[in-house]
This record gives sequence, structure tokens and C-alpha cells, in this order.
Amino acid sequence: MTTSEDWYRRATQVMPGGVNSPVRAFNAVGGAPPFIASAHGAKLTTVDGVELIDFISSWGAIILGHAHPRIVGAITAAAAGGTSFGVPAPGEVEVAETIRRLVPAMEVMRMVNSGTEACQSAIRVARGATGKNGIVKFEGCYHGHADSFLVEAGSGLATFGEPNSPGVTEATVADTRIARFNDLESVELAFESGDIAAVIVEPVTGNMGVAIPEPGFLEGLRRLCDEHDAVLIFDEVMTAFRVARGCAQERFGVRPDLTCLGKVVAGGTPAAVYGGREDLMRRVSPDGPVYQAGTLSGNPLAVAGASACLSYIEHNPEMYDTLEDMGAELESALSSRMSELGIDGCVQRVGAMLTVFFGPSAVRSWDDARTIDTDRFARFFNAALQRGVLLPPSGFEAMFLNLAHAEVLDSAIERLLDALEDVVS
Ligand SMILES: *Cc1c(COP(=O)(O)O)cnc(C)c1O
Repeated sequence: MTTSEDWYRRATQVMPGGVNSPVRAFNAVGGAPPFIASAHGAKLTTVDGVELIDFISSWGAIILGHAHPRIVGAITAAAAGGTSFGVPAPGEVEVAETIRRLVPAMEVMRMVNSGTEACQSAIRVARGATGKNGIVKFEGCYHGHADSFLVEAGSGLATFGEPNSPGVTEATVADTRIARFNDLESVELAFESGDIAAVIVEPVTGNMGVAIPEPGFLEGLRRLCDEHDAVLIFDEVMTAFRVARGCAQERFGVRPDLTCLGKVVAGGTPAAVYGGREDLMRRVSPDGPVYQAGTLSGNPLAVAGASACLSYIEHNPEMYDTLEDMGAELESALSSRMSELGIDGCVQRVGAMLTVFFGPSAVRSWDDARTIDTDRFARFFNAALQRGVLLPPSGFEAMFLNLAHAEVLDSAIERLLDALEDVVS
């Protein structure tokens, strides 16, 4: 039998880090990643024949459970009718109409192939519409790997950012200002430099772990964007159809100008969507001059995945109560055991995404998140893995619940609580 370790060794010969996306490489937690043979419901089966309860859920993309029959059936049927036409098809229209019913701020939209593409395109629309170049992003938020987002605070917040990856030029990030999540003053400072086309934010952060917007923060962004004629972009690639049926914008009652959807939106196939105010989206080619295109955009496989997933969501609104209840149960079990064991830290959750932070008693922004005890997290991660529970392999990420967790939640909680004991011993 070829084991996970064999595959990993072979993988490192032909792929950087042996993976197609960096965090899969387990660098933050040590060891070799398991290689997966198949996934069903809440479980992954590795090539070694080990079953793992999965809290990665494809980084949030899976909400109904792995290999959900509705999604598998839709994709299979679509594949039999051709995988890409490069010419319009009815399903694309139906998906856009469904999204507009679920997320009314998305009046007009376009389907793309990844969250990265959605965010990059939304920024281009904002710049094209306002005639301004600057964008404000928050430290610790991730908007895909487009050049203008690969930036970190330079000498201080609200000043010019610096590239955080070789290969990104200083000129590309010169228009990106960095602000602090949950800190409106830092956003006001960023606006003082003038020339701001857009503010882009994860309305609930997932990419530094779950930080929750404090009352007034998202409303404040709305007000500042209105005052300065800037476009408010909610990057809901992670939060869409995860924190609420109508996304974070429904849950927190703030309407952005543009929204990026990804992950859940396509039912686990590679697709994402950006869209919003009609006047802005009419700027996009061929209605307007802002160019954006894609050979495989809205292909039948992605459309089938999106259509099956979104119609389930539309017709089963009670699924969000189930996700909320499961999330609350997991949250309270973990946080009470942490305090019983005297482990410093906190558990933060919105809907079906949750992070256990070791160290800080609250995480409001990257300034708090950066202080986490990464060694403790690695021990927790490995203790959980030994007990058959797979967590995201980094302390700066969220655990993601899907509906199939209902069948395994009690057992998963028991194992995670045992894993917490290993952290103190
Ligand atoms: C995952 C993610 C992206 C990037 O999406 P990809 O499909 O990986 O390109 C962008 N923004 C947020 C908030 C994400 O979580």
C-alpha cells in the first residue's frame, strides 16, 4: 500500500511543499499531512484507511457535508452534458437569480473561478467607477493572493504598506493602506490620505481566526465610505452562506456596495461570484469599460454545484438553526473545559465558524491574534489528530462546521476535550 508518507515524499518532488496551497503542508503543526482517498458527510478517509472527523470542510467550502447526494447528482448529470461551452447556458441565469434572492445587495453579478479573482475584480470595478486608486484593507484579513492584497503594515498603520511576498512590487502595494479591524479611527486615518476607491473587509474575519465585528464597526465603515465616496466591499468568500443564509451582511444588517462570494457558493466546486450595486456592476465589460473575463467562468460543473447547493439553502432555511446550535454546543464545551483546565485563551464563533485562540482572552484584531501561543495550538492540533479529529493546521484559522457534523458532534466534542487535557499535561 502507498501510505500518506509515501505520497507526501513523492509530492514534495514535484510540487512546492508537496501541496497546491501552502497551509495544507502542516508547516505550522509539524509532521506530514494525511493524503485523502475520499470524503463523505463529516468524515475524510485517508489513503492509510484512517477515518478523520473533518473540521476543515475544505476551508469552509463544504456546508451540506462531503459528497452530498444532491450536489454529486447535479455535477454528474452536468458533466454528461459537456463540461464547458464558452457560450451562455440557462443555469448561469438561474444561479444569479437565486443569489439575488438570497443576497439582495447583489443586484447584478458575475461568476468567476476563485475568491482571489472575485476580490481582484471587485477592486478593479471600484477603482474604475470612482477614478481613484487607493484601497483600505485590514491587517489579518485575507482577500486572495492578488498582488495588491499581499501587503503588510510598513512603519505603521494607515501608512503605505509593504509587499509581504517577493514578486510583489512596491508600486503595486503603494495604493493599499492598512487599517486595524474593529478600529474606525485607523480607517479614518487611512482616508485622510485621500484617493480611497474602496474599503475591503471580511465582515467576520476567518483568516486570522474568527474576530467578530463590534457593534458599530461595520456601520462605521458604511458611513465613512458614504462620506468619502468610496465603495464598501464585503469579502464574504468565507462568511457567505456560513454565518447566515443571507451572509454576514444580513446577520449584521449592513449593506455593502459590492460583495464577493466564494467557497460555499459553489458547493465545493471551483467558482466564486462578485457583484452588487447595479450602477457599479454596469461598468463591467461589455456593458462598460472595466475589463474582466474568464474562459471557464460559469462552466456547467460549477453552475451545477452552485445551483444544487444554493437551492438546498434557499429551501431549507432551518439548516442555519442546526448549524447555530451545533456551533454553540461546540463553543461552550470547548470554552468551559478551557477554563476548568486553567488554559488561557478564548473561543470565538459566529454561526458555523469558530476559533480556539490559545493565549489572548479576546481577539478583536490582528494585534491580539498575533499573540497566540502557536506551540500550544500545535499540541492541541496533534492531540486531536491522534484521536481522529482533523482541525485546520494553523492557529490563525477557523474550524468549519457542516450539516453532516450532526451525526458525529458528540464524539468529536469528547475527543476535542480530551485533546485539550493533553495541552496542559
Ligand atoms: C478563501 C478566501 C479568499 C480566496 O479565495 P480562493 O478561492 O482561495 O482564491 C478570499 N477571501 C477570503 C475571505 C477567503 O476566505
